[in-house]
Amino acid sequence: MKKPRILVGATSIVFFIIIWKLYGIESVSGVEELKQELEYQENINRFPLSLERIVNPVTIYCVTPTYWRLVQKAELIQVLQTLTLASFKVNIKWIVIEDSEQKTSLVTNLLKRIDDAGDSRLSYVHLNAKTPPFQQLKAKDPRWKKHRGVEQRNAALKWIRENIKPHGSKKIIFFMDDDNTYDVRLFEEIAKVDKVGVWPVGLVGGLNLETPIVDPKTGEVLKFKSGWQSKRVFSLDMAAFGINIELILNKTITVFSYRSEVGYLENDFLSELIEKRQLEPLANNCTKVYVWHTRTMNPEALKKIELHDEE
Ligand code: UDP
Ligand code: MN
Repeated sequence: MKKPRILVGATSIVFFIIIWKLYGIESVSGVEELKQELEYQENINRFPLSLERIVNPVTIYCVTPTYWRLVQKAELIQVLQTLTLASFKVNIKWIVIEDSEQKTSLVTNLLKRIDDAGDSRLSYVHLNAKTPPFQQLKAKDPRWKKHRGVEQRNAALKWIRENIKPHGSKKIIFFMDDDNTYDVRLFEEIAKVDKVGVWPVGLVGGLNLETPIVDPKTGEVLKFKSGWQSKRVFSLDMAAFGINIELILNKTITVFSYRSEVGYLENDFLSELIEKRQLEPLANNCTKVYVWHTRTMNPEALKKIELHDEE
């Protein structure tokens, strides 16, 4: 009777050791998995932003003038995709104004994708307003010779004044040209605007960036670091500010003017709405660049092949 008992005891010990080892291995790999999961979570929070949807009662009205050229569709798709991502954090109304006699099927079909997505946080308004011939750039003119996007931005201002009632939920207007590059983090900054918010813009005016200079003690915008010195009070690019729509509704006649001197479009517009000392520095007190004034080269001598691209 003794032998079987020893056998049972020994078998139990071996069995116990096997179980213990297996459990040990499993729990080590469990810790490893947990670590990897945590790292993954941290990374998706870092880039480009957490995709967790948050409810923010602010709506940003993004005003995009656009005109036909070979890169137009490529530009607009980038803007659309940026806004789709941004709409995870804040409501977006995209006002697209074509520089044309009529709305084109290219833009209409592109905007239809927003209808198809059926997410109320991203909606759009489609307008058209043709730049008068005498204000249009000639083929050989340098870009700076004429103001660009004036007619279209003014059409958007008119739409806003006709369609938005004052004293509702917070609404911010942002002039979002179709050819710049936007970090989605910018839209979370724009949502913070109270009256007029400002931030740095990369690759503009011959500099790596232009920026408001903020007094570290008072947090007030003192002046601007910009590519060319001038008498401008607001030495800012169009992409460098967001305005509370209440200000636009209060000043019923403030528009962009062809009469502004070259380089003074933003300055003259803002001067009618706000004083410099009231500007709100955003993007971590103007230490972060979330928008770049990029320009896509227009491809020359493209060979045209027929491709059935209905969209
Ligand atoms: N734009 C337009 N019609 C034109 C030229 C420009 O509607 O004849 C638009 C353009 O698509 C962009 C904005 O106006 O959204 C500013 O134009 P651009 O990028 O050429 O100007 P820049 O960045 O050099 O100031
Ligand atoms: Mn541009």
